[in-house]
Amino acid sequence: NLKIDKLTKKYSGKVVLDNISLDLKEVQVLALIGASGSGKSTLLRLLSGLESFDSGKIIVNGHDVDSKSDEAYRKKIGFVFQDHNLFPHLSVLENIMLVLEKVHGMKREEALPDVLRVLEQFGLNEHSDKKPHQISGGQGQRASIVRALSIHPELVLLDEPTSSLDPILTHEVLNAVKLLAEDQKDFVIVTHEIGFAKEVADYIVFMDEGGIVEHGTKEMLSNPQSDKLKAFLNKVL
Ligand code: ATP
Ligand code: MG
Repeated sequence: NLKIDKLTKKYSGKVVLDNISLDLKEVQVLALIGASGSGKSTLLRLLSGLESFDSGKIIVNGHDVDSKSDEAYRKKIGFVFQDHNLFPHLSVLENIMLVLEKVHGMKREEALPDVLRVLEQFGLNEHSDKKPHQISGGQGQRASIVRALSIHPELVLLDEPTSSLDPILTHEVLNAVKLLAEDQKDFVIVTHEIGFAKEVADYIVFMDEGGIVEHGTKEMLSNPQSDKLKAFLNKVL
């Protein structure tokens, strides 16, 4: 369950999210779409509890999200940022293990089998000992997805998770999301790929200039109501 009430966010006086409200129940995979600069990444960061906002409320599964030292909440969130931000001095495997051991206090031998299995699933086993600069953009993206999933989060926030993946790997991510959604995990995914959104999401929010213009089930994409969504779909399809 996600409830956003009159949410406003400014960066140095400039309104980036403008009085946004949304009330969703039983949505497992939510896709955020919209033009560059419309505020998608900002909204995702606010959902993570990592960043503060100016006014309004965010309630995720009954939990009042605010950025003030909400450690317990953040531990339940898996987040893949737009620029996947792996630690540069650590191998792919150690990037994942660090989070599990240090943040989640898991024992290495306990966590390892699961991590190796998911690395394999994402075609990363032969890259697990490489550092981020030794792998491709797509591999880095997959590694950060694996890292986000490895903590078994309640809610997974993905910012453009497929932006540097080829169609086959995009399909892999798609399948992983579908599988995990069956597992009762919730996702919020920012994507510019309408096909991906259509395949994976059960609800879609279209943003423009810091506001929500239209939201609904994926049928909305075949039958847009607003001129802004029509124009957007014409451009991206
Ligand atoms: P894209 O599709 O290009 O990733 P987006 O929809 O994710 O775009 P945001 O990154 O949320 O857009 O940015 C929304 C607006 O907020 C933009 O005008 C951006 O310049 C501004 N903005 C984002 N982050 C900051 C920041 N840390 N400081 C100042 N302005 C910011
Ligand atoms: Mg963005």
